[in-house]
Amino acid sequence: MEKLSSPKKIKEIVSKYGFKFSKSLGQNFLTDENIIYKIIDGSEITKEDVVIEIGPGIGTLTQYLAKAAKKVLAIEIDKSLIPILSETLKGYENVEVINEDVLKVDLKELVIHKFKGQRVKVVANLPYYVTTPIIMKFLEEEVPLMDMVVMMQKEVADRLRAKPNTKEYGSLSVAVQYYCEPEIVTRVPKTVFIPNPNVESTVIRLKVLDNPPVQVENKKVFHNVVRAAFAKRRKTLLNTLSLSNLGLNKEQIKESLTACDIDLKRRGESLTIKEFAALSNSITNML
Ligand code: SAM
Repeated sequence: MEKLSSPKKIKEIVSKYGFKFSKSLGQNFLTDENIIYKIIDGSEITKEDVVIEIGPGIGTLTQYLAKAAKKVLAIEIDKSLIPILSETLKGYENVEVINEDVLKVDLKELVIHKFKGQRVKVVANLPYYVTTPIIMKFLEEEVPLMDMVVMMQKEVADRLRAKPNTKEYGSLSVAVQYYCEPEIVTRVPKTVFIPNPNVESTVIRLKVLDNPPVQVENKKVFHNVVRAAFAKRRKTLLNTLSLSNLGLNKEQIKESLTACDIDLKRRGESLTIKEFAALSNSITNML
């Protein structure tokens, strides 16, 4: 099959099948081979690796993944793309396409079933409307993962890798950095998609850590504390945590903050992941 990474070829296929782009499914197809190579290089895929691609579209990136990897499992929600993928991926024996909503799939079970539990690489030009839920699903459901190399809206990528005391730092930064180390692979302009999205994009690599950077006694309390800490960014931690439904009163929150050596005037946005862990452990012990 001839390469799909050109606007002309994509238009040809789309018109042959009468395919209509769905904005609500985040369908912006990549047209630039250089960006595809940056994604492939950034993911350091070898012939030993098994890959999950989310949203193959018409299969442009999929073809390159198939050449680089041992096996590719592509999960596509849009039924109307399945016959197109049968044509564009004909001859790529190591690719399997499943017609599912990735957010509804039991991913852990899928990896055990399809890859005998081998740790997977996730590579995708993500549908931007569900970037965060997809990433958090892979991380929180403890899917055996090596890393994720994913394209997303630039602003979301900036939040994933943000450090304390910046306006981008928030509960998403802490949640993601608890599991992985994010690094930028490349910035991507609006012009290399059909149709062009309204936003700039970034490809980011999330290297999954073998062990979390901090010891957390109760993950649920940790995530609740982080979420509550950023719920009202202008308030001090003492006030915002007291108003949240963590189950502790103001005096108890004060006691926890003091026990962790955290000044009572500090705001959530100034806390490192380590401090969040210490605080949530102290709160856990009071519940
Ligand atoms: N990979 C293709 C490319 O780079 O040209 C298409 C990327 S496009 C940004 C996102 C793709 O994700 C679309 O094919 C869309 O139909 C698919 N998609 C959207 N929501 C999905 C979901 N919940 N589960 C699986 N696929 C989804």
